[in-house]
Amino acid sequence: KGHNERSILGIPLKPRNEILGALFLQADPPQAYSTEHIRLIETIANQASIAMDNARLFERVQRMAITDSLTGAYNRNYFYDFGEREIGRAYRYKKPLTLLMLDIDHFKLVNDRFGHLTGDQTLKMVVEACASALRQADVLCRFGGEEFTILLPETKADQAAVVAERIRLVVEQSRLPSEQGEVAVTVSLGVAQLGAEKMGLMDLVSWADQALYAAKAAGRNCVRVYSP
Ligand code: GH3
Ligand code: MG
Ligand code: MG
Repeated sequence: KGHNERSILGIPLKPRNEILGALFLQADPPQAYSTEHIRLIETIANQASIAMDNARLFERVQRMAITDSLTGAYNRNYFYDFGEREIGRAYRYKKPLTLLMLDIDHFKLVNDRFGHLTGDQTLKMVVEACASALRQADVLCRFGGEEFTILLPETKADQAAVVAERIRLVVEQSRLPSEQGEVAVTVSLGVAQLGAEKMGLMDLVSWADQALYAAKAAGRNCVRVYSP
């Protein structure tokens, strides 16, 4: 028995046509693995690769279920889940929580002038602009169409208004190249902080919406804060 003589068995983990990894076995004596051993280990490797594949698939489906496929922002379902959870936390730990409601100004004109596909690209541009102005803890959701909600945990209205203004400015300065020239849009934002008296997510949405409406009425491309 030479010093370097050992038994090594390598089996690829390949549930479909893609290699996910390998099962690697080593034993000191040479010729340690019989045909029967190998067959058994192959069965284990198969099971393992199927389990890994399922876990990956499950993760992807879970992520898809809470993501807006066009923009990559969270979707409305996630907004409801996360929002309820954050409101609970805010009251429990007596922390501020603020909601921003964002709506693209005259977005219909972008679709009319540049077409729906460029309109879609514009939505992506706005989401990227928002993301660049937000912190890790902030949660951006596509509420519907060209309206977005942004939840800012542990943030008061005045701080949130600064964030909203930053978003407004970044969007205003963004440009999307297209066949028919550059697309530029502006956004209006409403800001509402969770009240001291217990309220629900829909009440908070309604407050932010009223502030957003005020921003639109004030001429658009601006930020308004809800005051009861
Ligand atoms: P305002 O400043 O008052 O908000 O005007 P607006 O034109 O943005 O408002 P309105 O609500 O009348 O129009 C929203 C437009 O958004 C109409 C709709 O076609 C467009 N829209 C909604 N969802 C999508 C989408 O997923 N892709 C594209 N390209 N357009 C969308
Ligand atoms: Mg709208
Ligand atoms: Mg709009």
